[in-house]
Amino acid sequence: MSGTGFPDCATLFLVMAECSFKTLMYVDKVPSMASCTKCQRKFFTPGSTFRGDRVGAEEYLRDKFVQHQCPKEPAK
Ligand SMILES: [Zn+2]
Repeated sequence: MSGTGFPDCATLFLVMAECSFKTLMYVDKVPSMASCTKCQRKFFTPGSTFRGDRVGAEEYLRDKFVQHQCPKEPAK
């Protein structure tokens, strides 16, 4: 009821990891690319599946983000 819309970090994400999810690119205001700011891994929405579906696209990207695991140490 706060009227803030989607929080940057849902409680789930705060519990699981530091908030390192970042949406990088939008197509027609729909998130199309996001990344983990900790390990720089990129996540993409498939083709036009989420065209016009901002919520679905964001959920998809966040789901991918949750499923990935940051390397404990940066690869060299
Ligand atoms: Zn990561």
